[in-house]
Amino acid sequence: MNSRIGQGHDVHRLAEGRPLILGGVTIPHPKGLVGHSDADVLTHAVMDALLGAAALGDIGTHFPDTDPVYYNADSLKLLEKVVSLLEQHGYAIVNVDATLILQKPKIAPFISKIRKNLSRVMHIPLEAVSVKATTEEGLGFTGREEGITAMAVCLISDEGRNS
Ligand code: MG
Repeated sequence: MNSRIGQGHDVHRLAEGRPLILGGVTIPHPKGLVGHSDADVLTHAVMDALLGAAALGDIGTHFPDTDPVYYNADSLKLLEKVVSLLEQHGYAIVNVDATLILQKPKIAPFISKIRKNLSRVMHIPLEAVSVKATTEEGLGFTGREEGITAMAVCLISDEGRNS
């Protein structure tokens, strides 16, 4: 059995009048993330980590933002597709660790719901999903509350893969 590592990174801009959706949880906040889909930056970083670990491209190639099908798409549904793609290729997800970088709002009250969502969709135990949040001390675009960054790493194994 071989282990493979993947990393994902995403940024979305914050604007008024948009919902703030992170890990499939709608978080009350005056600003939300702008994007073609629901702009769930955290789920996007997780998807890119998984695709990267399997060397299966990135979310831009699988779900192009020029495709009207993905307009306002629920990113958890897209994650579901990524997970089944990995399963089709014989990969099992071992764990995911993600970090959100944002000035506001406080994410701590929502972390447990976010982890539950991600673990359910990825078919892995809650203990295998870590979600953290940090600020950049008011510096840069996250500090100015212009956008949110998400980073994720994951480990997958090729136990179901015929080699
Ligand atoms: Mg994105």
